[in-house]
Amino acid sequence: MSDYKKPLPVVQPYSQAFWDGTKQNKLLIQTCGDCKATIFFPRQQCPDCWSTNLGWMEARGTGEIYAFSITYEGVEAAFVEDLPIVLAWVDLPEGIRMQSNIIECDPDSIEIGQQVEVVYKKINDDITLPYFRPIS
Ligand SMILES: [Zn+2]
Repeated sequence: MSDYKKPLPVVQPYSQAFWDGTKQNKLLIQTCGDCKATIFFPRQQCPDCWSTNLGWMEARGTGEIYAFSITYEGVEAAFVEDLPIVLAWVDLPEGIRMQSNIIECDPDSIEIGQQVEVVYKKINDDITLPYFRPIS
């Protein structure tokens, strides 16, 4: 989509695997080879023990809404088409909390504790963004 006007992630060497994963419809989570922490967002060092011995695991792709807010107005022009926008913290069973939009839903039906699953949107050849939608 060459007419995409929203900000896109800047892929870093330490986040390349994450974005390679989303392109294959896989949600990869960084893991620490020393203290076994699961890490999100991707980093150069483990935030728990500072190790650089990091790897990746594939997440199940499900989660639970920890908290959310709904925006009905007052966004940048590029986001108006998405209103209302549900922004949520999603807890994954792998032990991480991701911030994401909840899409393909009736915003008024969203609840804390709701079960969601990852869904991927290909933006261009380099970036596929992960979102979540309610499990129906
Ligand atoms: Zn660690």
